[in-house]
Parts: sequence; C-alpha cells; structure tokens
Amino acid sequence: MKEVILIKIGEVVLKGLNKRSFEHKLINDIKNRIESFGSYDVKLSQSTISIKPLSDASSIDDILPSVKKVLGISSLSRAFLCDKNLDDIKQTIVESLGDILGSLQTFKVEAKRSDKKFYMTSPEISKEIGWFILQKFPNLKVNVHNPDITVTVEIRDLGAYIRYGAEKGIGGLPKASSGNAAILISGGIDSPVAAFMMAKRGIKLTAVHFASPPYTSIRAEKKVIELLEKISEFSGYIKLFIVPFTKIQEKIRKVCPEEFFTLIMRRIMMNISEKIALNEGCSALITGESLGQVASQTLEAIVCTDCAVSMPVFRPLIGMDKEEIITISKRIGTYDISIQPFEDCCTVFVPKHPKTKPKKEQVETAESKENWDILIEDALQNLNIVDIKQ
Ligand code: ATP
Ligand code: MG
Repeated sequence: MKEVILIKIGEVVLKGLNKRSFEHKLINDIKNRIESFGSYDVKLSQSTISIKPLSDASSIDDILPSVKKVLGISSLSRAFLCDKNLDDIKQTIVESLGDILGSLQTFKVEAKRSDKKFYMTSPEISKEIGWFILQKFPNLKVNVHNPDITVTVEIRDLGAYIRYGAEKGIGGLPKASSGNAAILISGGIDSPVAAFMMAKRGIKLTAVHFASPPYTSIRAEKKVIELLEKISEFSGYIKLFIVPFTKIQEKIRKVCPEEFFTLIMRRIMMNISEKIALNEGCSALITGESLGQVASQTLEAIVCTDCAVSMPVFRPLIGMDKEEIITISKRIGTYDISIQPFEDCCTVFVPKHPKTKPKKEQVETAESKENWDILIEDALQNLNIVDIKQ
C-alpha cells in the first residue's frame, strides 16, 4: 500500500494553449521544492499531479508543508493507491484509514470515476463502499452534510486512489510565470501582503526598501529581510535593493512645505524605484496602498503619487479593509514580523497637518524648488543589494 499526495491544479487548467507549459512549470516547481527531502516521483495524469515517495526514507509528512506553499495548486490531499478492484479498495480503506474510521462518528463516501472504462458508476461505487464501511465500523453513521470524515474513492487511469483530508492550496499561478515587477516594501503590514498577492498571480518580485539611518535602525532593515524571506517561501528568489534615503529626506525637510513632506517623499521613492525596476527588467511597480487608509492614501494623494512615474503601479490592496489585509498577513506568516516596533523612514519627519486633498500642480511646484537628480543619482550609486533565497 503506497501513500501519495494528489494535487488538483486549479486555474492552470484554464490556460488554453499555455496549459502544457504551465503544468510543466508547476511540476518543476514541486520537484525543486522537495528534492532535498528525499526521492519522489512527481507525475501528471488527467490534470492531477501525484507525488509518490520512492524510498522508505522519503516521507509524505516531511514534504507536505513545503508542497502547500507551491503557487498554482488549488487543493491537495493525502491518498493511498491500490489496484482498481473493489476487494483491493476495501482492504486499503481498512488498512490505511482503519484507525481514523474507528475513532469517529460520522462519514460519507464520494466516488469519482475518471477512468470511464471502469465497470461500476460513481453512485454504485459510493453505495458499495458506504455499506462496507458501515458493516466494518459499527461506530460510524452516514452524514452527507457535515461528516467527520469524507472518504473519496477515485478511479483513475493509474489505479484507485483512496483520498481523505483534502486541503485548499494557495491557488494562483505558478511562480514567476507572469513577468517581473518591483515591490516598494516597508516594514509594515500592508506591503508584504501586496507582494504576496502579486507573487500569487505569477509575478517575479524585485524589492526596493528605503532606509534612513540613523533615523531608522539596522533592525528595521533586518525586519524587511525577514518579511521577504517569508514571501520568498511562495514567490521564490527576490533581489532586494536597500536605498540610502537620509540625505533626500533631510533635503525635503529643508526645502519643501511641511504639508507636502510625505507626498514628495513618496513621489521620490516611486521615481527611484522606477529607475531600479527598469534596470532589473520589471514592467510595473507594486505598493501596499489602500484607499483612504491614511492621509497619503486619499484619492487625491494617490493621483499625485501616481503621476511621478510612467510605469504602471499595481496596488492590490486598494479596495481592502485593514481587517482583510491582517487576515492574509497572518495566513502567510508576515503579521508577527510586521508588528515588531522598528521605525520606518515614513515615520521620520511626519508633518503635523498633511494635505489630504493635494493638487498635482501644487505638489509639483513645491517639489521643483530643488533639483533632485543629483541626490537621486547619489542614492542609486550607493545601493545595498541583498539576495533573498527561497
Ligand atoms: P505598509 O504597511 O506597507 O507600511 P502603510 O499602510 O503603512 O503601508 P505607508 O507607510 O503610507 O502605508 O506606505 C504606503 C506604501 O509605500 C507602502 O505600502 C509601501 O509600498 C511604500 N513604502 C512606504 N515606506 C516604504 C519604505 N521605507 N521603503 C519602501 N517602500 C515604502
Ligand atoms: Mg508603513
């Protein structure tokens, strides 16, 4: 009796002509993720991927947490493989699930017949196996609406699979299958979630972080690295650029009206990020902005920030409430890191009364008091690069 993981591919199946290359990519991603754990056979058949351990030392338990983080998987379940006949199926259920079934009160059987040549229909299989389980385990009753366990019998080309404990995968598209974009990452709650959401749509991420030592500490940079390490568990490798931002922030404080501090700072951040992004082959920027969350994220403020660059800016959180964002950050494991209290450069020189309805022309006039090119060039000459490996 062999235990395997069965994976449903989800959205990748919708991809028409690209379907094959997406499937191929997903299989490669899974293989790369598990190769250090032992020896496994990863195979695609009928839009389902199966992972089978090839040695006693290679276990399902070891690889499951990693497999759950592979982008493009809609659901996965543990399964036992046996021959396609009722006696083997019954014996496999008793041997593999006997302990679990003996300890529960309700169950249901679902049958699926992908191999249409099999001599019984799905309802016939369900009925036969249901009766068998009822006889064998007197503790169990059938409950089709809310059972303690659903035993799924799936008759496929390769054999019969007895599945249980299906879980949702991350979904989305295989990693790095939709092009490159640069995430402006702070140490806050929002931008890591924005990074994850775009990675989930297949974006390969480059990251840009602005640091203003000594106003911001080295711990704040470590925090950003830790956040990106969490994201890279899903997205794969991320190249992080740390931009020295102190001189620019000090200059803004010196020459710009206070009410525009944050907005001008954000526009220069976008400008520098766009230059890095272009150099790294990215076609868009990503931020963690959410409409109306703070003064710099009113519609008017976002319009002023947006027109500082010509690259498209993706804001995947724009329509989300803080609660919804927090729920995702907890699920992907960034929340506990984000709430650590290290100063971000946005909290340096915060205006007392920021303009909430700024006009583009006003901001541009305020900004034009200084030629920023030299300071921007200086920052770009002094970038720190950190490799964030999966
Ligand atoms: P976050 O939780 O991501 O910090 P926020 O709600 O605190 O977002 P702001 O601080 O106004 O919002 O920042 C808005 C966006 O600007 C961030 O989501 C991020 O994309 C970008 N940003 C802010 N600070 C930095 C920084 N130090 N380095 C890089 N990008 C930044
Ligand atoms: Mg912030």
